[in-house]
Amino acid sequence: MKTISIPEGMQTAVFVMEAGALKDAAQVIREYFPGKTPWIVADGNTWAAAGERVAEVIREAGITAKEPKIFPAVPQPHPYESTCQELAKMITEDTVPVAVGSGVINDLVKRASGIAGVRYFCVATAASVDGYTSAGAALSVDGLKKTMPCPAPYAVLADTDVLKSAPAPMMAAGYADLFAKVVAGAEWKITDLLGILPIDKKAWDLVQKNLRMWLEDSSNLGYLFDGLASTGYSMQVYNDSRPASGMEHLMSHVWEMEGLTYKGEDVSHGFKVGIGTLAAVRLMEFVLGLSEAEARKLAKPCETLEERQANMKELLKRNCYGNPEKIALDKFKAGDAAIERRELIFRNWDRIRYLLKGQIFSYDETRRLLLEAHAPVRPQEIGLDKEQFYHCLFTAQLIRARYTFVDLLYEAGLLEEAAKTLDIMFEE
Ligand SMILES: [Zn+2]
Repeated sequence: MKTISIPEGMQTAVFVMEAGALKDAAQVIREYFPGKTPWIVADGNTWAAAGERVAEVIREAGITAKEPKIFPAVPQPHPYESTCQELAKMITEDTVPVAVGSGVINDLVKRASGIAGVRYFCVATAASVDGYTSAGAALSVDGLKKTMPCPAPYAVLADTDVLKSAPAPMMAAGYADLFAKVVAGAEWKITDLLGILPIDKKAWDLVQKNLRMWLEDSSNLGYLFDGLASTGYSMQVYNDSRPASGMEHLMSHVWEMEGLTYKGEDVSHGFKVGIGTLAAVRLMEFVLGLSEAEARKLAKPCETLEERQANMKELLKRNCYGNPEKIALDKFKAGDAAIERRELIFRNWDRIRYLLKGQIFSYDETRRLLLEAHAPVRPQEIGLDKEQFYHCLFTAQLIRARYTFVDLLYEAGLLEEAAKTLDIMFEE
């Protein structure tokens, strides 16, 4: 059984990864969940990809398992909190839930196990998300996108033969999700500089130390899975998604709450995040291209509270975003506070540009790498028209307390001006 090292202090005790690793499933259960009864949860696709084999390995080892729960392949299972509540009812104290799948199956089982208060075992079937090793599950709660609390898996197993044979778009999605860490890092550097939120060295290193290397070659599955796993650990360490998620993730949450589909199917997390990432990089390049004097000249006056409220009402009129008004207004600075914040930004303008320069890839390079990974680079490729795309950019600022690059541009009075440079994304 070939294990890969896990940083200290994680909820995850073991990570098995190699070609053919499915054969080790029974050993993992014996060693890490002694005396427990395994219960496989999969969907039609992941059952065929790995679930059936895991069941066989368990049976051959003489371990008695519960009847597996197999969701249909079509329609794909949705990440509903209500489904987790149902699954949790079926988990007894002596059960070890075995999630065989990627994003949704893992999130469902992670949360259900958390509710039931038992440890679970995750068998990954695609390098498509960074949620395998993170605590918390991204779920839809009464139509709203929320990260629900629950521990990370106690054991993770990744058979690289299985990961390799996953549908190509899943690996592309994983790559785009990993690429988002470039943006998340740039934002964190800025909040650190401005005294809004300091960088946590341990969490930072887990994501950023090797990020460029991981992103260099999108066909390198080992790099990709390492990167995604390490990102999950950093969220465990920091107990928040700040190390791994910035404005691009908030954009993806907005589209999710709006029920974005393309050709009748849900758009994967990674693909939405990839489009958001490209937008973020473009906005960052806008800042890179402006001197402090030019930025000051271009800045529009700070909004009054009344103007802000009126704009928010317009942006949120679809009424599918929960009630983020309080969160958005807590962020909002009026009068002297707004002017003071703007001064702080402009005083640090050159430092911000310096930090960005050291952190991001250029727009062209980002686009090239995403294309090479077979991830979409134009908003219309995930079903977005200009109206929904631009609306999201302004709405993403409202839904979470997190300070992102959109907040920086808004506070500097440059958001509208910067957004104009995004039209290029729709072109060939
Ligand atoms: Zn993500």
